[in-house]
Amino acid sequence: MKERFVNIIKIRYSVHMSIIVQDGHPALREKTKHIPLSEIGTPKLKKVITDMKKALAEQDDGVALAAPQIGLPIKLFIISGKVTELVTGKKSKDMVFINPEIIKLSKEKKTMEEGCLSVRPYYGKMRRSTKASIRAYNEKGERFEMGASGLMAQIFQHETDHLEGILFTDSAADILAVPLNDKEIEKLDDGDLIIQSNEK
Ligand SMILES: [Zn+2]
Repeated sequence: MKERFVNIIKIRYSVHMSIIVQDGHPALREKTKHIPLSEIGTPKLKKVITDMKKALAEQDDGVALAAPQIGLPIKLFIISGKVTELVTGKKSKDMVFINPEIIKLSKEKKTMEEGCLSVRPYYGKMRRSTKASIRAYNEKGERFEMGASGLMAQIFQHETDHLEGILFTDSAADILAVPLNDKEIEKLDDGDLIIQSNEK
């Protein structure tokens, strides 16, 4: 399993690949591979994470990015520090989610406006749970659980969909070609963020 994982990075990934791929790229539809815990902290995985952070930072309207969006079918996504800043009001770093699993979704759902850096310039309405809890490993290999509502809960659902090869346009309504901008990100934000546990 470890070798196969390493091969994915070797074969699929080069220094020139921190470009966000668009709908139609096969990596967006592949089932992603679990990341062996022994890979966390290795130079290879660190480089992938650094490249993803760079690629996300280059997008003014970007709030999160999943590994398939840079052509890598592995279980990893990041959320921009901008999102945590909106929720907590404090300057924040990008958050890394390795092998994430949604562990709870609220029955209550809401129609939310949604876009995707890989389905530009489309924008649509999605029914999403208003609250979600996720379990993952961070870039230090520490397991954590996080509960969130609003924008952050929406991102958990959108990004874990990416890891299943699902794009929001598969089920969104009223899909329109309207680019997202920062104003809309602020408008969407009405969430809380609770870090429930962080074990070593
Ligand atoms: Zn997306």
